[in-house]
Amino acid sequence: MLGTGVLGSQIIFQTAYAGKDVVAYDINDEILAKLPARWEQLKPFYLRDLPDATPESLDAAVSRIRATSDLAEAVAEADIVIEAVPERLDIKRDTWQKVSAVAPENTIFATNSSTLLPSDIVSAVDRPSKFLALHFANEIWRNNTGEVMAQEHTDPAVFEEVARFAEEIGMVAIRVKKEQPGYVLNSLLVPLLDAAATLWVRGVADIDVIDMTWRKATGAPLGPFQIFDVVGMTTPYNLNKDSSDPVKREFAERLKTDYIDQGRLGVATGRGFYEY
Ligand code: NAD
Repeated sequence: MLGTGVLGSQIIFQTAYAGKDVVAYDINDEILAKLPARWEQLKPFYLRDLPDATPESLDAAVSRIRATSDLAEAVAEADIVIEAVPERLDIKRDTWQKVSAVAPENTIFATNSSTLLPSDIVSAVDRPSKFLALHFANEIWRNNTGEVMAQEHTDPAVFEEVARFAEEIGMVAIRVKKEQPGYVLNSLLVPLLDAAATLWVRGVADIDVIDMTWRKATGAPLGPFQIFDVVGMTTPYNLNKDSSDPVKREFAERLKTDYIDQGRLGVATGRGFYEY
């Protein structure tokens, strides 16, 4: 596993929880030293959300994780390398070039990128037939989708193998049949969230009314602003602040002034559009 940030650490822990041996790679040992604390933060969520989780099974998961900042050592025995490094094309390409130079010939390569397509990255890998996207959702242990998406050179057998791997680690495999920015999930979710933001900024309805409408009329458990609170304010702020659309810029401005600057970042900080 390359990258041990928000998603990388969750993928590591979930994969180990499912019984696999996992090697965690990051750029230096100081970052890796934070991992034991991450596992302690994740354990209560597993105990809360997964009826089968026990303190023993979670300790066993931790015992299957090894950490190293030596890339060649990290991938030396890997069946699959999953990459969750920062969402920048230059970093992704540089990472995959380096991995290509040291990984065994049969190792499958998967990127967890949310906004880049595997075809944007494929020219940096030495094995296009074994390269594709495997995209997880935040809070992987309960929001357990694994979106599998190929690029034109991916071997269909590799695609299927990765879908089965996703199932083995407790995901519902979503087989995305064509390259699509945003996969299935964000292709549905982003327009909903954008529409909610526009309704609010234009003063069409208040936050609680927008959310209640969505919940009542569709049976969905959460309204769009409750979803913003789960995602956290930083991501929508970054996505909207430089938009050419003045309504989106105004949304980013409100997020910054009324929420981010007030420490109201969402569920993670106990306060966002709502109090938790
Ligand atoms: P993050 O910033 O929390 O973590 C990135 C990690 O990569 C850090 O540990 C950092 O030290 C490490 N890193 C930096 N440069 C590196 C390099 N050259 N080689 C290896 N590691 C390096 O980011 P994140 O939120 O975990 O996102 C990572 C990827 O996962 C992105 O592609 C993102 O689109 C995707 N993703 C994120 C989410 C989410 O909700 N956060 C959901 C799905 C997918």
